Amino acid sequence: MPNLWGISTTLVKDRKPDFSIFSGMNIELRLDNISWDRMETVKELKKILKRHSINVPAVHEPPGINISSDDEWERVKSIREVEKAILFAHHLKIKRLILHAPERKDSLEEILEFGKEWGVEVVLENTSKGKGKDASYIFSLGLPVCLDTCHANKNLSEWLGHEEKIVHVHVSDTKGGEEEHLLPGEGNIPWKDVIPILAKRERVYIFELMPHPEPCKRMDEIKKVVEKWEREYGLSFF
Ligand SMILES: [Zn+2]
Repeated sequence: MPNLWGISTTLVKDRKPDFSIFSGMNIELRLDNISWDRMETVKELKKILKRHSINVPAVHEPPGINISSDDEWERVKSIREVEKAILFAHHLKIKRLILHAPERKDSLEEILEFGKEWGVEVVLENTSKGKGKDASYIFSLGLPVCLDTCHANKNLSEWLGHEEKIVHVHVSDTKGGEEEHLLPGEGNIPWKDVIPILAKRERVYIFELMPHPEPCKRMDEIKKVVEKWEREYGLSFF
C-alpha cells in the first residue's frame, strides 16, 4: 500500500456515521455502529462508499470481543466475530484488518488462516493494556504492525526502533494517558522526532481521534497537521 493518510470513523463513533463528510477521503472503518454481518448492509455500504468516492484501506476489529479469553465459549465466539469482519472486508474489497495483538497464539493462528483464505491482511495493533503493550512481544510474532502512538507514548522509541515492521499508524497525541487520542500538537508526543523516522518508508497513517461534536471542523484541523508534516518532514501522500 502506498503512503496515504486517512481518518478513523472513531471521530463520529457515537453516531451512525454520515459518510458524506468523508467524501473523497481514505477512512478506517470501525464496526461499532454498523450491523455488518448482514449482506444487505454490506451492499448498501458498498454503494454509499462508491457514491462518495471513499477509499477504505482498513477495517478495525469488531467491538466487545476477547480472543484471548480463558472462557472457551467467549474465545470462540470472539474469533467468529473477527472472521465475520474478515468476510465483511473481503466483500468490500478492503485489504487490511487491524487486530489488537492477542495474548493467545492459537486464536491468532486461526484468524491468520482465515484472513489468508479470504485475501485480508491481518495487522497487529499495540494496545494500552496487557501483553499488547509490550513491543518485543508483538514484534516477536513476526507480523506487520499497526503502531498506535497514543497507546505507545511511554515507550515510543522502543517501537520506532523497529520501524521497518510498522505498516500502519494510528495517529493521535496525548498528555500522558494511553487513551486520550488528541490531535497531534494538543499533547506532548515529540512529532518532530517521530515523523522523520516514520517517513523512511511508505505506510498508512490513520488519524484515530476521540469523537468530536463538529467532525468537519476537526477534519480541517487534521488536514492542517498533514500539510505541516508534508512541508516540514517531506512526507508525501498519494
Ligand atoms: Zn488504535
